[in-house]
Amino acid sequence: MLSILVCIKQVPDTQKAVFDPRTGVIDRSGTENIMNPDDLHALEMALSLKDEYGASVTAITMGPPQAADVLNEAHALGVDRCVLVSDQRFAGSDSLVTSKVLSRAIVKLGAYDIIVTGREAIDGNTAHVGFQLSEFLQIPLLAQIHKFKINKDSAIIERLYGHEYQKIQVRLPVLIVVGKHANRVRIPRLADIKTCTDKKIIVMTMNDIGGTEEEYGAAGSPTVVIETEIFSHKRGKEILSGDMNEIIDILVHRLKKHNILRY
Ligand code: FAD
Repeated sequence: MLSILVCIKQVPDTQKAVFDPRTGVIDRSGTENIMNPDDLHALEMALSLKDEYGASVTAITMGPPQAADVLNEAHALGVDRCVLVSDQRFAGSDSLVTSKVLSRAIVKLGAYDIIVTGREAIDGNTAHVGFQLSEFLQIPLLAQIHKFKINKDSAIIERLYGHEYQKIQVRLPVLIVVGKHANRVRIPRLADIKTCTDKKIIVMTMNDIGGTEEEYGAAGSPTVVIETEIFSHKRGKEILSGDMNEIIDILVHRLKKHNILRY
């Protein structure tokens, strides 16, 4: 039977998130957390493959203990196994270390055929993790897929790549990156929502995945955030009055100042 792993991430609902104006960091304490939207599509891809070919689907997340909420949601949607990779020593990890942690946990979980990730998380927004995971695991990666078929030990995918239509055959195991346009997400049944928190979640720590403390968290992360800046788009209205030629001069001057008009 196929073994499919889906990487999912708990993110603050950025539509409702409050930013600390001093640091530019999301205040996670008062923010509602949700499953990263792309990851619902990644789960849908795995679950529809399960429906078609039969598969065991595992959802995996790295995060603090409350990230278990997205795993419960994954259970309600129909995944077979959920894994929370959580350790205080992972706090402050950048995207490279996050991918390292996930890849080591995946290796420990045993053989797999397909890994699915979302394209991008709505809080970090780097779209790094899928690509870095495929490098750590040394497996091929395919993105922008709209059809995915299995033929014995290969996957046949169809995708629109720029102005090209491509049909590609690739040997398993493979990592696929899934965005919002890949499919329509299913809705969990009420009965499954009611029972999802009773299901067991496997917890893995640094002791389970190996490595040393210096490799993880802020210590192991090469990325340094030097500065953050919040852009706020405030619309204002100003009516210029007076001589038409003067108004035009003022307008041209302002547009040049903001680099909208260059010459
Ligand atoms: P993307 O690469 O945009 O995500 C793409 C896909 O990868 C997702 O759709 C999902 O399928 C998968 N994925 C991404 N992250 C995970 C995950 N954790 N588990 C499972 N699947 C995943 N974040 C914190 O929460 N706490 C911190 O203390 C912290 N410190 C940081 C320090 C630095 C210096 C930096 C640069 C970042 C820090 N971050 C921290 C952010 C953290 O590194 C990123 O959230 C994480 O690496 C994923 O990157 P991304 O959000 O851009 O995901």
